[in-house]
Amino acid sequence: MDWIYRELSGVMLADQQKVIDEDIIAINSLPNAPLIPVTARDVYIRRCKLAGDAMDAGFGRFRTEDLPLLLDMVQGAPALIGHRKDTLGVARFFGGDIHRGESSEISYIVPKFYWMRVHSASEDLKVNIDGGIYNEASLGFTFRQPTCAICNEDIRRCEHIPGKKYDGILCFFYYDEIIKVTEGSLVYRGAQPGTGFMLSHPNMQPPETSNYKRFKWDGVWYRGVPEKLVNV
Ligand SMILES: [Zn+2]
Repeated sequence: MDWIYRELSGVMLADQQKVIDEDIIAINSLPNAPLIPVTARDVYIRRCKLAGDAMDAGFGRFRTEDLPLLLDMVQGAPALIGHRKDTLGVARFFGGDIHRGESSEISYIVPKFYWMRVHSASEDLKVNIDGGIYNEASLGFTFRQPTCAICNEDIRRCEHIPGKKYDGILCFFYYDEIIKVTEGSLVYRGAQPGTGFMLSHPNMQPPETSNYKRFKWDGVWYRGVPEKLVNV
């Protein structure tokens, strides 16, 4: 189970849905570039609010200053449907920019992604994106250090528990030392009931501490709800 940036992330149409030369150059310049360079007639392109600096449902949060690094790491990453890692990607991320939120608003990385028009499922994907069926997005990534926002220590070793309040302050942690982006997924609303609520979401609840498990550590950190840790 990965986190869905419900309401706050999503798939957007590319500007006027036009493929511009700049996009084609960016695609053909990716690491592991297309074997046969693509042209504007070969691809569909859309944009995606893939991740932001708001707290997610696992009480983790990217630092705003790490968003440029995250956008770099997304370059060339596969776009999957619903985190189906047993399938190949349906699209690939490239380019894009960072949408800066004003003052307390959320900032996002907004990469573009492309897929091949002649693929047999190409129109289905386009229809589902443009029709709003796939309207949310979720980032898969790994990181090393979860830093407690209250005491600034590694949250595995401090006394604070993410999701609990201390003197009225909700404990969360920062995703520090991000290692890599594994994929970004297009998902549809309702695929993961109960997930994806953000900082101000009224349904946000601290985790059940009775079955609370500390985070898994085997060299790499993984995101997930405490009782359902998953490898991303
Ligand atoms: Zn702490």
